[in-house]
Amino acid sequence: MSSRRIIHVDLDAFYASVEQLDDPGLRGRAVIVGGGGNRGVVCACSYEARAFGVRSAMPMFQARRLCPQAICRPVRMERYRQISKQVFAVFDRYTDRVEKLSIDEAFLDINGCERLLGEARTIATNLRQEVRRSLGLNISAGVAPNKFLAKLASQQAKPDGLLYLCEEDVDAFLRPLPVSALWGVGRVTGDKLSGLGIRTVDDLRNLGQDRLVILLGSQGDHLYRLARGIDDRPVVPESEVKSIGHEDTYAQDIHSREEVCRQLLGLADRVAHRARAAGVSGRCISLKVKYADFTTVSRSRTLPEATDNGSDMYQEAKALLVKTEGESRPVRLLGISLSALEKKGAGQQSLFTAEVRQRAESLDQAIDTLRQRFGEGGVVRGSLLESRPSSAKKESGSGGEGG
Ligand SMILES: [Mg+2]
Repeated sequence: MSSRRIIHVDLDAFYASVEQLDDPGLRGRAVIVGGGGNRGVVCACSYEARAFGVRSAMPMFQARRLCPQAICRPVRMERYRQISKQVFAVFDRYTDRVEKLSIDEAFLDINGCERLLGEARTIATNLRQEVRRSLGLNISAGVAPNKFLAKLASQQAKPDGLLYLCEEDVDAFLRPLPVSALWGVGRVTGDKLSGLGIRTVDDLRNLGQDRLVILLGSQGDHLYRLARGIDDRPVVPESEVKSIGHEDTYAQDIHSREEVCRQLLGLADRVAHRARAAGVSGRCISLKVKYADFTTVSRSRTLPEATDNGSDMYQEAKALLVKTEGESRPVRLLGISLSALEKKGAGQQSLFTAEVRQRAESLDQAIDTLRQRFGEGGVVRGSLLESRPSSAKKESGSGGEGG
């Protein structure tokens, strides 16, 4: 087994905990979040309600019968999403390899973070404390050599716990668990196995691999491995962000093409900067133009390859500008956005040749560095307008590659 370190984190009774957070009168009490009336189902319940046997997905009437004193609250999805975002922002401070499983659950790959953040157990402890301190929510965590074990560990750690599984502990941890603990064993497989007297992971391990495959087909191979704590699935971060954009409304309407292009260049640089900071590139560029009379148009184009490059975006935005009346009518607002985002690293090419690309990238990096030092407004490229009349005043510090 490899020596990977994966953390699975899972907020405890998330919806119900948010209700208790927002209404202190609910703290320490049985709370059920769910559909209205007796015909709905329980979406979530506090641990105080669980003590009475209330469970998620249970019909509301049954839950009320089990726990008549429970306070029932409707689902407030928007609020839970808002809090979830804050929780995930905490995760992002620990590693950029966060795989979101649901609104309240994620895998974190912390390999390589130990030197900076301490050993795996310390990282998980600090993360739990930070969520508790900054958001007032309990989160359980499992630390293990892979995703499968980390998730099992966090489930065992609940509520409000941490379970650390090192490789030597894996066998003793797994063997007594029911087969249903294995990922992929639902009721059908569970019934099949229990019909053969196989109830625990240990029972399953006593079956040979061949026997398992005969019984369960390709799932047999999968279970053979899981029963031994083997799971090589990587943590796959996915881009949460759907688009990155920036727009400016101008105090005075813009009347010249030259000025519009100058603004677009600044916008493109800012969008590119944010894309690079987020580690994404995008295939779709959109331009938004609001005229002085407040009518707004948007134009977009999908590129053959994703970009995170300010000059690419500027060139595309200028091409899109031609499809608007932004060159002839007074303009009140301009915006550029980048969508169809992909995480960096996957098949990165550019519209540019390699050499030009390299120059563009080093300029982008220089801009990023300066921006870090002087702030967002501190750096504006020397104008790179190709259509600038020769009589126009030449600005200093021209970047060069855009025109
Ligand atoms: Mg949860």
